[in-house]
Amino acid sequence: LTDLNKLVANFTQLAYQNHQAKDKTFEADFTLDLDPHFPKLEVIPSDIGKVILNLVNNAFYAVNERSRKDLPGFQNLEGLEHFKPLVTISTKNLGDRIEIAVSDNGPGIPDFIKEKIFQPFFTTKPTGQGTGLGLSLSYDIIKAHGGELKVVTKEGEGSMFIIQLSNVRITD
Ligand code: ADP
Ligand code: MG
Repeated sequence: LTDLNKLVANFTQLAYQNHQAKDKTFEADFTLDLDPHFPKLEVIPSDIGKVILNLVNNAFYAVNERSRKDLPGFQNLEGLEHFKPLVTISTKNLGDRIEIAVSDNGPGIPDFIKEKIFQPFFTTKPTGQGTGLGLSLSYDIIKAHGGELKVVTKEGEGSMFIIQLSNVRITD
């Protein structure tokens, strides 16, 4: 039985440190919104860990991308609110199922790209920065656990990826 709250906290921290190590200018806040009544689940921790890591990595990349597109001039104007990169990871116990959501206030995903993001090797990242395998692998892992991986996104506002699991043994 796996404590997913702990897994989420550890992997988010890890992803954050990796992004900082790779890009000295990387700056983002993250919030953990963990349900204190989240049950222990019968899942394969390394598999679910991979999914969380993929989603969180994508989220940090997305907010970072949006930061870089911010007009530099704006950021120095006093009184003008500039973009604050934020990633939020939440866990929720919904009784008969659980949800883990990773949301970001990055650029969002336009419809014509959204159709393809779960396909293997689909990436919009420059060569060397993405394999395009993260989401397709994550989708397969969640399906193998009898769950769903969904995305809600709006261009210019951000994205939220939601893992739903109901076919796993849930013990409080
Ligand atoms: P990779 O990260 O290697 O590109 P993924 O399978 O993880 O591969 O993601 C595929 C594509 O989906 C990304 O290249 C990007 O275009 C899009 N994407 C995934 N997550 C996000 C996100 N949080 N915000 C915006 N676009 C995203
Ligand atoms: Mg990825």
